[in-house]
Amino acid sequence: MKKKQEDMKFAITSKGDAISNALTQKMKSYLLDFGLEYDENQPDIVISVGGDGTLLYAFHRYCRRLDKTAFVGVHTGHLGFYADWVPEEIEKLVIAIAKTPYQVVEYPLLEVIIRYVNGGREARYLALNECTVKSVTGTLVMDVEIKGDLFETFRGDGLCISTPTGSTAYNKALGGAILHPSLEAIQLAEMASINNRVFRTIGSPLVLPAHHTCMLKPVNYSDFQISIDHLSLLHKEVKSIQCRVADEKVRFARFRPFPFWKRVRDSFITD
Ligand code: NAD
Repeated sequence: MKKKQEDMKFAITSKGDAISNALTQKMKSYLLDFGLEYDENQPDIVISVGGDGTLLYAFHRYCRRLDKTAFVGVHTGHLGFYADWVPEEIEKLVIAIAKTPYQVVEYPLLEVIIRYVNGGREARYLALNECTVKSVTGTLVMDVEIKGDLFETFRGDGLCISTPTGSTAYNKALGGAILHPSLEAIQLAEMASINNRVFRTIGSPLVLPAHHTCMLKPVNYSDFQISIDHLSLLHKEVKSIQCRVADEKVRFARFRPFPFWKRVRDSFITD
């Protein structure tokens, strides 16, 4: 998919530190000089300057217009997984944004629907990385249903449901597999499950395809600490947490090839 440059509107999200702010100002003035319009509310392209956390923030800020907005990340700290341009390259990046029709790559997202005990209330979230569920009172006890059937009763510290691009984040620290983002799937990984003669969980991360919904249902308590990417909140009186591959996708603007496995290698092995 190609995007034409005429009338292109951009926004920049900064991490907020001095280096990121200075870089933001520089890129903004270059892009304005090229005739692009700055529009914080309805941008065609969002440049995130900072780290992966900044890109996660930008994603959630523009979450309601994912079909119209593409993201690109510049990192001002260590190499980011989403933020893959370095400050020394910003002139090149600005020219590429202003002059060349860019490629857009789309990656799967996680849809989370939390339903509450009272009044059929529900809340819907999209995660770029993952959703984690932890207890606020001790061991998390949850029935895990897959495609409507009870799979197991989980006991342990928590559960992490990640996207393919989020598979290199928290999921990786939990021993989950790294999933290529061309796979429309989500991954369920355990956090320190209790396994003995009485309690049993599968013990391996599960990769679920797009049409397999995973439903978490509380067994005893109904208050949980639930995170969606960087945002962690206490949710009270939860009846169920439904996770599946979202219909929406995140779109990244690509100005040069940066294959996923090279990104993984550069981030975790060596660059
Ligand atoms: P943060 O800035 O401390 O980020 C944590 C680290 O995760 C950073 O080094 C960041 O570069 C890296 N990261 C984020 N997304 C990534 C991805 N998709 N692939 C590889 N690395 C990635 O914290 P934050 O800004 O609040 O970011 C929230 C994210 O932190 C969560 O989405 C979660 O994935 C991650 N996290 C990881 C752990 C862990 O690894 N044990 C624990 C909590 C949260």
